[in-house]
Amino acid sequence: MTMTALITHPDCARHEMGRHHPECPQRLSAIHDHLIAQGLDPYLVPYEAPLVTREALERVHDPAYLDELWASAPLTGLVHLDPDTAMNPDTLVAAQRAAGAGVLAVDLVLGGEVGNAFCLVRPPGHHAGRARAMGFCFFNNIAVAAAHALAHHGLERVTIVDWDVHHGNGTEEIFRDDPRVQMVSIFQHPFYPYSGTENPPPHMVNVPLPARSGSDEFRQVVTDLWLPAIRAHQPQLLLISAGFDSHLEDDMGSLALREGDYAWATHELVRLLREITGGAAPIVSMLEGGYVMSSLARSAGAHIRALIEA
Ligand SMILES: [Zn+2]
Repeated sequence: MTMTALITHPDCARHEMGRHHPECPQRLSAIHDHLIAQGLDPYLVPYEAPLVTREALERVHDPAYLDELWASAPLTGLVHLDPDTAMNPDTLVAAQRAAGAGVLAVDLVLGGEVGNAFCLVRPPGHHAGRARAMGFCFFNNIAVAAAHALAHHGLERVTIVDWDVHHGNGTEEIFRDDPRVQMVSIFQHPFYPYSGTENPPPHMVNVPLPARSGSDEFRQVVTDLWLPAIRAHQPQLLLISAGFDSHLEDDMGSLALREGDYAWATHELVRLLREITGGAAPIVSMLEGGYVMSSLARSAGAHIRALIEA
C-alpha cells in the first residue's frame, strides 16, 4: 500500500464556461463522490492545491501570454478565448490552483512525503501552448509540473504519459526541443486538435489510433511502444495527463477504453518505474478530459485505486 496524495481545491469548481459546457464543475464532484462510495477516501492523504507562482508558470508560458490572460479576465459574464474556451471571473484562480496542484504534487512525491499523487483539478491543461489557450485549457498543468521537477528539483529525465482521447498538442509544443522531457501518448486520429503525427522528435512517442480502437490496441501500444521507450529514457519521475475521454462510454471521442485499461496501464507503469529506480515509483497524475460523469468517475476511481495499490 502506497501513501497517495489527493490534491484539489474548491476554487477549481468555480470556473465555468456556460451552462451546457461539457468541461463542467460536476466533473470533480462526480469523481470525489465515487472515491467515497468506493471506500477509497481513507487511503488518500488530502491536500489543498496552492496558487501556482508566476515563476513556475513562466518556465513554460510566455510572459506576454500570461499578462494577456490576466488582462482578459472578466469581472462578470464570460470572455471567449476560442470557440470552446472561455473565462469567467473565477477562471484565473481555478487555473492557478490546477497548476499549483501539480507543483505541490511534485514536491510531495520527490520529498518522499507520499508515494504518488493524483491532482483532482480543472481546468485541464494539455492543449495549452506556450502562448495560447485552447481546447478548455489555459495553463499547461502537466508541463508546469514537469518543468518544476527539472528546474527546482534538478531532475534530468522525466516522462509524461498522456492517455486522453485528444493529442496533448500543448505539451508536445512546449517540450519538443527539450529531450529531458519524454512524452508517450495515444490519441484518436484523425481528430481534434489534428496534430501529433508530423515529424515528431524521437523523445515524443505519440501514437495515433483510429476511431473505435479499444483495450487490445491500447494494451499493445503500451506493451510494444510505451514501456520500451520509457525503459530507454530511465525517468526519475513519471507524470500522467490522465484524460478519461478515451473511455468507450465517453461520447466526446470514439476510442473504446474501459476503466480496467487505465488501472492496468497504471500497474504496468508502476512496475516499470520500480524496476528503473530500484525502489520507489514516483508518479504525479493530473486530471485532463473525461465528460460523461459515470465513466469519468469509474475510470478515475480505477486509476486512483491502482495508485493506492502501487
Ligand atoms: Zn480530451
